[in-house]
Amino acid sequence: MAARSGYDAVVVGSGPNGLAAAVTLARAGHSVVVYEAKPTIGGGCRSAELTLPGVTHDVCSAIHPMGAGSPFFRTLPLERYGLEWIQPPAPLAHPFDDGTAAVLERSVAATAAGLGADGPAYQRLMGPFVRDWETIIRAFLGPIRPALAFHPFALSRFGLSAVRSARGLAEARFRDEPARALLAGISAHAMLPLEQPPSASFGVMLALLGHAVGWPMARGGSQAIVAALAAYLRELGGTIVTGTEIGSLSELPPARAVLCDVTPRQLLQMAGDRLPAGFAGRLGRFRYGPGVFKLDLAINGPIPWAATDCARAGTVHLGGTLREMAAGERTVWRGEEPDRPYVLLAQQSLFDPTRAPDGTQTVWAYCHVPSGSTADMTTRIEAQIERFAPGFRDRILARHTMNAVEMQAYNPNYIGGDISGGVSDFWQLFTRPTISPIPYATPVPGLYLCSSSTPPGAAVHGMCGYYAAQMALHGALSTRRTWGLGDLLPLAAPSEPAEVPSRVP
Ligand SMILES: Cc1cc2nc3c(=O)[nH]c(=O)nc-3n(C[C@H](O)[C@H](O)[C@H](O)COP(=O)(O)OP(=O)(O)OC[C@H]3O[C@@H](n4cnc5c(N)ncnc54)[C@H](O)[C@@H]3O)c2cc1C
Repeated sequence: MAARSGYDAVVVGSGPNGLAAAVTLARAGHSVVVYEAKPTIGGGCRSAELTLPGVTHDVCSAIHPMGAGSPFFRTLPLERYGLEWIQPPAPLAHPFDDGTAAVLERSVAATAAGLGADGPAYQRLMGPFVRDWETIIRAFLGPIRPALAFHPFALSRFGLSAVRSARGLAEARFRDEPARALLAGISAHAMLPLEQPPSASFGVMLALLGHAVGWPMARGGSQAIVAALAAYLRELGGTIVTGTEIGSLSELPPARAVLCDVTPRQLLQMAGDRLPAGFAGRLGRFRYGPGVFKLDLAINGPIPWAATDCARAGTVHLGGTLREMAAGERTVWRGEEPDRPYVLLAQQSLFDPTRAPDGTQTVWAYCHVPSGSTADMTTRIEAQIERFAPGFRDRILARHTMNAVEMQAYNPNYIGGDISGGVSDFWQLFTRPTISPIPYATPVPGLYLCSSSTPPGAAVHGMCGYYAAQMALHGALSTRRTWGLGDLLPLAAPSEPAEVPSRVP
């Protein structure tokens, strides 16, 4: 299997976190090999011709506020390896049945101006966060760290809003539907009931990133992000082996550190016999969340939105009012598929002409479903699009679907179709995978977890991989092999950001 007899470090899985871990270790001068089960690298960050020849779809992740804002990615020369962020004129639109839409604009003031009577309240909520965005991102895109002690005012102000339920925060801060639904729709990325804390954390964090760095897409497809990481890794001397599923750690070549870009259930399968019973028991109690149903379409021309503002947005949330979305998400948590699901939709080809030939457009959409659901949600997702864009159905040229079970077959990390690497509720958001001051390390010397099942959780930001690699550098790969406060300090801030150019079409 291995091209040589031993490495300093082995990474299992080539998702954005696996590659981020490998790059961090290779940059520190260590020899690294990455093993990927599937024929191509990238995990949840691949693009492919799913419908028609010449039409590129993002199979999983599509929109990258976390990638553009990632303190780790911003230290890397990813633009040298072809990564270009494309910023749609507006990050997000949220249409309503009366033909209007609430819009998350790049500027807080412009967003507030579109929210009527709730405009000043929106400015009061988001304005201070945007001023402190760099501090907030560095503190919350990682394990809970000493930064909290250094910036108590900025971080506790953000934290007090973030710990609430989306519904609680939206109803406390806003009077009218546009602002409430806008915040609730963003918060629904949490895949939690909107009445459950801390679902608001996703809403305020993603809205903050929308103002600070935008909600961009990668030119040519999300695959460009992992392709750039892989090219940089190879330049640093790293090796990537695809088409090699690791069933047990005993299959790996000798290494001082093994970093696994997998979820706790898979780690138990690969390393169960080596893990102390107590730790294995805690991993076994790790909880997974609902799944997703994914729909990709090639369509003839753009989506005919009733609210024209939707055509300026890279992402569109379809779910109507706060109450309707909350009911849909509660239905999913009861174990049923909602009739009118909350749908996340992206329309990349409107802003990135490389995605499809002239005249053809791509539609990327998914909705939440119960774990392990085999229901076909195509008709229900298309009905939600048609509701806000009459005539849309007549434009469909080709479809590609994946139910929750097929999602897991596509990527073994999507347990039951859960794309978040485990539930992000209060307990598991910052204590994933188990409660521990060093969440990436395991009791087995040299064995680390680096997937989105560790802090800060799901999305393409590489921060889980970066922090896990830092742990390895200060643990198994360190010559000192002793722990101290100094070992935690590099976690406070990656080195200065390198600019990744972005382009507004
Ligand atoms: C439909 C969908 C939409 C999404 N939208 C967005 C979005 O717009 N923006 C965003 O930021 N995020 C989005 N995400 C989430 C994002 O894709 C994930 O959070 C991210 O990919 C997690 O990265 P990871 O490296 O932890 O794991 P993954 O990307 O899941 O990678 C894990 C890799 O490990 C490999 N692997 C697993 N087991 C083994 C084994 N035993 N041996 C070898 N290899 C193995 C897998 O094949 C896979 O390649 C979306 C996900 C989905 C599915």
